[in-house]
Amino acid sequence: MAQIAIISDIHGNLPALSAVMDDMERAGVHEIICLGDVIGYGCQPEACLERLAGRCMVSVRGNHEDALFDATVAEDFNSVARTALEWTRKRLSADHLRGIAQTRLVFDRSPYLICVHDTPVPPSTTGYVGDPLTAGLAFRGVDARVCLVGHTHVPMAFHTESDRCEDRLGPCDVEATILHEDEPYRLRSLGRHILNPGSVGQPRDGDPRASYAMLDLKEGTFELRRIEYDVAEAQRQMRRAGLPDLLAYRLALGA
Ligand code: ZN
Repeated sequence: MAQIAIISDIHGNLPALSAVMDDMERAGVHEIICLGDVIGYGCQPEACLERLAGRCMVSVRGNHEDALFDATVAEDFNSVARTALEWTRKRLSADHLRGIAQTRLVFDRSPYLICVHDTPVPPSTTGYVGDPLTAGLAFRGVDARVCLVGHTHVPMAFHTESDRCEDRLGPCDVEATILHEDEPYRLRSLGRHILNPGSVGQPRDGDPRASYAMLDLKEGTFELRRIEYDVAEAQRQMRRAGLPDLLAYRLALGA
């Protein structure tokens, strides 16, 4: 096993997930780590769950999955996200819900790898690890060379030379890198990393193409891939399903 495909935040967008899985197939990569939020926002949550069922070597639960069971998580949602949550709940069978409930929140293989949807330091005041400040706080929970996160929908890498969770890190102790395709990020030989592959089904970095990444722990690379898919078709399906228009609209903007 050399390369592992890292996917996150699919958000019920089957055209995007299918395009990403076709790309993995072409690349000959069969190991998948899924960082959660397979559902929510998009109109094919059940099809996305089924497409991934039994395919992921690691799968962690996102806040949109959590919100199905935990009303306090749903309370933090804005009204559009809450509307989509209730819409999604009606689409899922008892089997789907059982499968989601069995998914763990954290996959911890310290000192090599930690996988979590949002932040490794719950209960979180740093839910979004999106800049050197929030990454510095999140590193308190990273007792591994690599921590994979999603949730922000923005592909980024954070590195600190510190190798101790106890270190109090300020923004200057963290190097942040915005990831681009065709520029593989090279893991540093020392210190710790937080790596985010962006979002398959609802990118928010201004690029509407589906985003995911290939991790090669042996080679020490994290390579972003951006995949074209039929955004207009995904939008048509969402509007036909009666989901809030904003959710379809933002797909074309990558915002
Ligand atoms: Zn998400």
